[in-house]
Amino acid sequence: MIIVMKTDATKHDREEVLKRIRELGYKPHVIHGTTRYVIGAIGDERGKLVLSSIESMHGVENVVPILKPYKLTSREVKKEQSIIKISDTVSIGGKKISVMAGPCAVESEEQIIATAKAVKDAGANILRGGAFKPRTSPYAFQGMKEEGLKILAKAREATGLPIVTEVVNPETADLVAGYADILQIGTRNAQNFELLKKVGQLNKPVLLKRGMSMTIQELLMSAEYILSEGNQAVILCERGIRTFETATRNTLDLSAIPVLKSKTHLPVIVDPSHGTGNYKYVAPMAFAAIAAGADGLMIEVHPDPENATSDGPQSLTPKNFAKMMEKLRLYAEVSDRVI
Ligand code: PEP
Ligand code: MN
Repeated sequence: MIIVMKTDATKHDREEVLKRIRELGYKPHVIHGTTRYVIGAIGDERGKLVLSSIESMHGVENVVPILKPYKLTSREVKKEQSIIKISDTVSIGGKKISVMAGPCAVESEEQIIATAKAVKDAGANILRGGAFKPRTSPYAFQGMKEEGLKILAKAREATGLPIVTEVVNPETADLVAGYADILQIGTRNAQNFELLKKVGQLNKPVLLKRGMSMTIQELLMSAEYILSEGNQAVILCERGIRTFETATRNTLDLSAIPVLKSKTHLPVIVDPSHGTGNYKYVAPMAFAAIAAGADGLMIEVHPDPENATSDGPQSLTPKNFAKMMEKLRLYAEVSDRVI
C-alpha cells in the first residue's frame, strides 16, 4: 500500500503513521520524491484491509494499493526517475550517460592502470573489472580476489574513476564493499536471493544484471529484494538473454529498455559486450541502446584482447573503444543526453 500524506501534514502526523504501520506488522519505506511525502507499507498483502484504516489518520491524504508484485521498484510508488549517486562527481540516471569500461577480469596492475587511463581519456566515467569471477568451468581462471580489489583501488586513486566489480556470494560481500563503489550482481546470481538480501543491507549502490533466462518481471522482483532490505541505490542492466539464436553469444533484448523505463524509476544500463559476445557488434548495439533510452553502458575493454584470461573475443581495444565513444556522442546528442 502507498500512503500519501497531505501537503500540510506535520512531522508528528508522519511519525504517527510510521508508528501505526509498524504496529500493524508492516515495514514502512519513506519514498523520497520531490513533491509529496509518500510512505510505502510493505509486507503481507493479506492485511490490506487493516492498512486501509490508516486513511482516517490525521494528515493522511489517501491510501492506495500497489497493484504490481514489485512495489518499491515500481513507478506506481515513485513516479520520478531515480538518480543514483556513485561519487561526488558521478551519478547514474540523470541527463549524463554513464559509461563503465574495463576488462572482464583484473589480471595485473599494469593491465588495469593502462586500461583505466585509456578509457578515462576516451570519456568513460566508471572503471569495471572482475576480481571474483563466476566461471562456467571450475578449471577456468577464478579471478585475483582481494589482490584484484587492491589493484582496482589503486586504479581509482590514479584516475579518480569509481569502480564497479562483482560480488559472487554473501560471505565475501563485505570484503568487496570495502573496495568497490558499485557492487555488481552477475547474471548467474540474479536470483540468488540470499545474496540479494545481503547487498540490500549494505550501503553501496548495486548494479543488478538480468539473469540469462529471466523475464523483466523477475528482474524487477530481484531488484525488489534489494530495495526491501533498505538499499534504494539499484541500477538495472540488460546484458542479453538466452534464445535459440547462436550467431551471437546472447540475444540483447533492447526492447527491455523502454519496458523497464516505463515500469520502474530505477536507472537502466546495457552491456552489449556480453549481449553479443563479439567485439564487432559492440559499438552498433551500444548506439542502439542509447537510442532506446538507456542511462548508461557497460563495455569490456582490454589492452590485449587476444591474451585476455576471459572474454577476449568480445573486448574492445582501447583504440576501438575511443572510436566508439566518438560516435556515441552523436547518438547521445540526438537522444538529448550528454556523455
Ligand atoms: C561480467 O560482467 O564480466 C560478467 C560476468 O557478466 P554477466 O554476469 O552478465 O555474464
Ligand atoms: Mn566478462
